[in-house]
Amino acid sequence: MLINVGKVKIAAGKKQDFSLQYELKESDFGYEDLKLKGPLSFNGEIENLGKFLQVKGHLQVDLLVQCDRCLKEFPYGLTLDIEESFTNRQDVWEAENEEDKEIYFFSGDSIDVLEMLVKQIYLNLPMRFLCQPDCKGLCPHCGIDLNEKECHCAEEQIDPRWAVLKDFKFDKE
Ligand SMILES: [Zn+2]
Ligand SMILES: [Zn+2]
Repeated sequence: MLINVGKVKIAAGKKQDFSLQYELKESDFGYEDLKLKGPLSFNGEIENLGKFLQVKGHLQVDLLVQCDRCLKEFPYGLTLDIEESFTNRQDVWEAENEEDKEIYFFSGDSIDVLEMLVKQIYLNLPMRFLCQPDCKGLCPHCGIDLNEKECHCAEEQIDPRWAVLKDFKFDKE
């Protein structure tokens, strides 16, 4: 996923627009739980600020995620405003990283933004997904989807101390 910077990198003050579309592969994530529903798009502007090139853009991607409560899959659209810096100067890169500022390194006439974008997606995902704010989830006893059906398990009033024994399986008789 490349931005051509052949012209921008020549002198400070130069800038140009970019518009990228990329069909993400599962292997780009290295995370099996995250599925993709569509391509990733990233549009914005790159500007030469002297020591580094600043990439400012808007990312949009549709994921397919699993509800934390009922385990159903549902589409989840993520949009992010991104601002990151890239440099092709080793000295600048080392100095900035020593100050704990995150800055990416590039060489040649193009910047590959894929790794940076995937990282941003990860950082901005919620800890858990819910298909709807009041998802009722699955019954812990019989496993039915409580959004679709009702069960009577809750009425059985199992004493929590005995619930452990109830589920205990006697494998060695
Ligand atoms: Zn749900
Ligand atoms: Zn139940």
